[in-house]
Amino acid sequence: MICFEKSSGVVVFRRDGEKIKYLLLQYRNNHWSFPKGHIEDGESLLETAKRETKEETGIDDLEIFPGFSRCIYFYYKATGQEKEERIKAGRKIRILKKVNFFLGKTKKTDVVLSEEQVDFAWFEFDEALERTTYPKDRSILVVANQYLKKAED
Ligand code: ATP
Repeated sequence: MICFEKSSGVVVFRRDGEKIKYLLLQYRNNHWSFPKGHIEDGESLLETAKRETKEETGIDDLEIFPGFSRCIYFYYKATGQEKEERIKAGRKIRILKKVNFFLGKTKKTDVVLSEEQVDFAWFEFDEALERTTYPKDRSILVVANQYLKKAED
């Protein structure tokens, strides 16, 4: 049996002169992605996205673009510690995850990571595209960047 889980997150960017810089976080299993996390009971997608961004990066001044909301789906099988914890809690180890992403602008440059992340970096689009681990995250970055370019015209 597969368990369906939902998360919500933000493609965070800031302006650096003429440049747009995207925030990527490196997670403990080394993958690079955007801040995101589980939706808790009673939370809206946007509330989760903002809360998780604040928890994982300390960024709390997000200006969210109301016209941008995109989701991805991916499947994975829990391994290692996550697998053990799930089995103990009587939860399934095969997971189909839906992640909704918003687009948010910050004026901050300082990032305060939580224990889940090991590193962060602000990248321009091309480099962010190279550093992002998963193709589905890349597709989110591509549409976010297109959206921003259009919003500027
Ligand atoms: P959440 O951030 O929702 O609290 P989590 O911290 O449990 O979730 P995820 O980042 O969702 O963990 O990662 C769970 C598994 O899915 C890991 O093995 C991770 O490498 C993988 N994963 C994360 N993002 C993607 C993606 N976009 N595409 C495919 N696999 C992914």
